Amino acid sequence: MGDWLIRFENTSYTYGQDTERSLDALININLKVKRGEFLAVLGHNGSGKSTLAKHANALILPTSGKVFVNDIDTTDTEKIWAIRQSVGMVFQNPDNQLVATTVEEDVAFGPENLGIPSKEIHKRVTEALEAVGMEEYRFHPPHQLSGGQKQRVAIAGMIAMKPECIVFDEPTAMLDPAGRLEVMNTIKRLNKDEGITILHITHFMDEVIDADRVVVMDSGEIALEGTPKEVFTQIDKLHSLHLDVPQVTALAHRLHQKNPNIPQNILTVDEMVSYICR
Ligand code: ADP
Ligand code: MG
Repeated sequence: MGDWLIRFENTSYTYGQDTERSLDALININLKVKRGEFLAVLGHNGSGKSTLAKHANALILPTSGKVFVNDIDTTDTEKIWAIRQSVGMVFQNPDNQLVATTVEEDVAFGPENLGIPSKEIHKRVTEALEAVGMEEYRFHPPHQLSGGQKQRVAIAGMIAMKPECIVFDEPTAMLDPAGRLEVMNTIKRLNKDEGITILHITHFMDEVIDADRVVVMDSGEIALEGTPKEVFTQIDKLHSLHLDVPQVTALAHRLHQKNPNIPQNILTVDEMVSYICR
């Protein structure tokens, strides 16, 4: 199997095709997700991010063009479970993703549906809860947890199915700052320690800084692509796409205009501090 876990090839998607109110949500997307990478997808509301995400595990099939997961065409209905097992999805609202009366049952739900023997499920639940730092809540009812904790349980439910890739569709959008941090740290750890490929959709700039690669969507198309530094130094372009750069990058950009010795491509406060103290 090649380097590419997911491939979008001239993928287009139209909602309400053949109706008067049809809408082109994706237009000729060409994108490859590399095995093991942390790919962030940015874009304002309605730019097509969720539509793109849902193509990654065959929740939506392209109107034209193709999507491949491990070289399997997502329109191949006989292989749908292989695709869904390779690529899991975590959504915005954790309440919609938790169904059982205890955390343990919730995390076990996916592997049970895969027909995995109960002894193996028990082991997987333990490992998955450890991976998200929720082992002490194993027997708690999910509805009593904080938003960040619920989201981590939803992530554990995905991990228990041993996916190669998890697509996160704005997983922190409904969380408070503490919950956001918990969830982001968990996602980064899954990528670094467990080698899980991450497709992280967000509109928070600061969640993108550590990504290997960033794609910016606009009106169903890819408007920008590159490393975080390459993307965030295009401040005017980002503004024209209704996106902000991280505060510290905007500051560096302005300081650079006064003093060219200050680099423009500063993405973190730590980097800024080390330049100023130099
Ligand atoms: P994002 O996730 O970036 O906010 P979406 O992929 O949800 O964008 O939506 C892209 C476009 O498709 C938007 O214009 C949105 O209104 C439209 N859209 C999304 N879902 C549907 C749907 N189920 N039916 C019709 N139009 C939709
Ligand atoms: Mg969305």
